Amino acid sequence: MTTAEMTVFETMESNVRGYCRDWPTLFDTASGAWLRDSEGRDYLDFFAGAGALNYGHNNPVLKAALLDYIARDGITHGLDMSTVAKRDLLQTIDRVLLTPRGLDHKVQFPGPTGANAVEAALKLARKVTGRTTVLNFTNAFHGMTLGALAVTGNAAKRAGAGVPLSHVNSMPFDGYLDGDELSWMERALDDGSSGVDKPAAVIVETVQGEGGVNVARPQWLRRLAELCSARDILLIVDDVQMGCGRTGPFFSFEVAGITPDIVTLSKSIGGYGLPMALVLMRPELDQWTPGEHNGTFRGNNPAFVTATAALEHFWSDGTLAESTAAKGDRIQRSFTELVDRYPGISTRGRGLVQGLVFDEASEAGKVCHVAFEQGLLVETSGADDEVVKLLPPLTITDDELDHGLGVLAGSVEAVRGGH
Ligand code: PMP
Repeated sequence: MTTAEMTVFETMESNVRGYCRDWPTLFDTASGAWLRDSEGRDYLDFFAGAGALNYGHNNPVLKAALLDYIARDGITHGLDMSTVAKRDLLQTIDRVLLTPRGLDHKVQFPGPTGANAVEAALKLARKVTGRTTVLNFTNAFHGMTLGALAVTGNAAKRAGAGVPLSHVNSMPFDGYLDGDELSWMERALDDGSSGVDKPAAVIVETVQGEGGVNVARPQWLRRLAELCSARDILLIVDDVQMGCGRTGPFFSFEVAGITPDIVTLSKSIGGYGLPMALVLMRPELDQWTPGEHNGTFRGNNPAFVTATAALEHFWSDGTLAESTAAKGDRIQRSFTELVDRYPGISTRGRGLVQGLVFDEASEAGKVCHVAFEQGLLVETSGADDEVVKLLPPLTITDDELDHGLGVLAGSVEAVRGGH
């Protein structure tokens, strides 16, 4: 890439840009688990659009459905008007996702981002319960708009709000205290003198993606669900990043056998990297009045088409969930070798979200940097960016996975060997 090609980004694009600084090349095309830059260099994708490309880039099945739809002049923009594309999607969600899991949740189409789905969920919980406080967890990430930011942990991100972020109490996530984290929450809720007001809802990620691949144990999630239901507190599972099969099953909470009151989905629900989000709510919670939460881009119909194709193609049986679990094990085996070979490294994850955790936080970023130079896209997460977070497309092949894991192992060696 020439300097002239890059100048336009530096001179014109806001300083807020981020990923382009870590991956300084001019990306052009992408297919499956690979991206290609303008000079024909290929990069293996262990990032998958931060979880928005679970089925890979330009997946041929989804592309065909999208091209057909565009060719027949299907509705592109529809607000919340009824369309054939939305009818087909709702029927498919019912048939493929809800009915087989015994769920009867109603489906809301908020604006097409994860943050907008979270805003809608928080607003609904507050409206239905008449309470204002929401409990969140340490290291949580729920988005960049004010409501979602208020339930997000990271201090640097919170500082960007410019106003106080209020009506929230933060609770220790599973593993945060190396002890019995939910005891504090239970005690605070039942003690009229704890200073914690009775909340409208608890919002939780089953695996904290941005927060450092922190995995909640199924028994912890079950106890959390019981704590909430016994006290008439709504449980919101934010499945924006861990849903759509990232951890194995379609919904990340299935591993715990719990039924959240409200679920947020975005990122890969559109299937093709097209913007789309959903809020699922138990029917009795659907107390919205028409248009009470709205947004111009709620009706991204091309995303409905690719979402429908993705649900039909990938979720009509358990094949993808099984292969995701197997590929997660494959990563774990490779990581175990690294952990055995090098001190100061540990690992955690579930399915195809796996983290390599460095005691010396700065090493994680260095590993990602070397990996990029070797043609692998992988990013860090965690409070101190101490975790190399693997988020490959679920459709990645075993050979591709092994290739990327080899690059990663070489990158760790380069960082530890100092070359
Ligand atoms: N919730 C979770 C769990 C997320 O990981 C993210 C994005 N990383 C969001 C919400 C916000 O989604 P968006 O960036 O689409 O607003």
